[in-house]
Amino acid sequence: MSDSEVLNHYSGSCLCGDVSFNIEGHLDHFFLCHCSRCRKDSGSAHSANLFSSTATLNILSGEDKIRQYSVPNTRHGHTFCSTCGSPLPARIMGGKVLQVPAGSLDNDPALKPNALVHMASRACWVDDYRSASIMMFDGLPPA
Ligand SMILES: [Zn+2]
Ligand SMILES: [Zn+2]
Repeated sequence: MSDSEVLNHYSGSCLCGDVSFNIEGHLDHFFLCHCSRCRKDSGSAHSANLFSSTATLNILSGEDKIRQYSVPNTRHGHTFCSTCGSPLPARIMGGKVLQVPAGSLDNDPALKPNALVHMASRACWVDDYRSASIMMFDGLPPA
């Protein structure tokens, strides 16, 4: 197996492990989206999704556990494990684009985030969180 084949093969799973998948191919973009819908469906400051117009998604287990929710009258969808709620990859935009939640991957993506998008909709506390003064710990803060 060549280095490029290694880089272009990803594996991932949900929190409970019922759903597992792999992805073959190249991931094109990596966006952190701060829109209000992504804040709801991630429960956090932003979604972190990789996108590909050419990669193939193979569901290896738990296909029956996968659910999709689409916000009515929008292009926003949320694909998740019905047991544990973890976001999962899905084909979007009429199947033309594969969207992969970065946190669902069990290995490192070969690219870094390209852009923070919908910053006009960001949570009020994001600018504090992005500031250099916030404390960082390798694990939990000391008791
Ligand atoms: Zn699960
Ligand atoms: Zn969004």
